[in-house]
Amino acid sequence: MSAVPSDAPKLFPLRRRTGTAAFHLSRDAVDFGVEDLERLTELGTVRFVARLLWGSDVEMPCPHCGTIDAHYWRRKELRWKCRGCGKTFSVTSGTVFADRKLPLKKLLKIAFSWVNGASGKPALQLRRDWNVSYATVFTLAHKLREGLMRGFNTGVLCGVQEMDGMDANGRRYREKRNRPQVVRPTPKPKIPAHLLKPEDGAGAFVGPPSPPKHGKTARQPKDRRILLVMRQRGVVPKRGAMATRIGVALAETATTVTALARRFASSESRILTDEDPAYARFDRLFAGHEAVSHSVAYSLPDGTSNNQAESYNWRMRRAAEGIYLSPSNKYLADYAVETAWREDARHLSTGQKLRALLRVAMGVGLSRWWRGYRQGRHRTFEMLVEGPREARGRGKRKGAKPKVPY
Ligand SMILES: [Zn+2]
Repeated sequence: MSAVPSDAPKLFPLRRRTGTAAFHLSRDAVDFGVEDLERLTELGTVRFVARLLWGSDVEMPCPHCGTIDAHYWRRKELRWKCRGCGKTFSVTSGTVFADRKLPLKKLLKIAFSWVNGASGKPALQLRRDWNVSYATVFTLAHKLREGLMRGFNTGVLCGVQEMDGMDANGRRYREKRNRPQVVRPTPKPKIPAHLLKPEDGAGAFVGPPSPPKHGKTARQPKDRRILLVMRQRGVVPKRGAMATRIGVALAETATTVTALARRFASSESRILTDEDPAYARFDRLFAGHEAVSHSVAYSLPDGTSNNQAESYNWRMRRAAEGIYLSPSNKYLADYAVETAWREDARHLSTGQKLRALLRVAMGVGLSRWWRGYRQGRHRTFEMLVEGPREARGRGKRKGAKPKVPY
């Protein structure tokens, strides 16, 4: 072995880990594990969730009538009896997990496993890990997403926000990217149209027809969606963005980006975008608007960039391609909100993440979209910035006749 000269560049450390990477390797990142949940008794689990939701396992609001009191505790049933209305309730009554079949501890363990994915956690993997049916984990994960959708993806941001739109083409979008829509051959007319005698008042000028326009929009697949993201820059330097809001739209137009910006940004905001003309109106709508031309630079010397928004796009790309494998357009917004939450929770420890998730997801009341899923009550619309749009599920149509294989 030859001796390495002393002035040779050192191989290790290759580079100093900073930001999120440094945090994930630090001791602060992991303060809670499945074993900590395993140690809880049935009663301890109820107490854990009660303290999480209400800050107390003695006094709480009744989900039926709202009375806040130290309700009667029924030890055997692990339920309370309301002092006001006399009805009983458990720790999950009136939340997205109402009428659950799973034991509370198992539910928490699956939720904890779901939380620990960096970009997401496939329902099939959860099924294999926890030996429950696919529908159970699928609805459980979607109830968490619904909680995030209604509890997390709300509220106005202020300060400096970055905004961007990203292509999300639904199923198999990479194969369809920039490919034409279904092309139907047009039958050739017997006499070319420009040789026909014009009808009266059909225009003074007769000549060859103008060539068809081959715009970019004509080539987009019909199921293409645009994922609009708005991220608020943090005030602590080098910590990145701190709050994320998303919306799914049919197109990145002035109407849709303005609708999203007005929903989530205060008029005192300063908004940073790329040079897309859809954002041109922001100059008049908000206190400040700067655009960075990506053909010139990704970040200007004065710090103008929308790289935090691009960072979200990248995590969403990983989720859509590597974990959820082309989520359908119907649930695209749900997955996008999940990614937004994961992006914002990236600096929380494992225990903090589980608590933060349950607090938000269990704070929105009963599930609107996933109660009765197994009985066939499915959501019938996809949620867009333009408004809800009817969407059909992937399953069989109602009343479809079963195919006889022979
Ligand atoms: Zn009550």
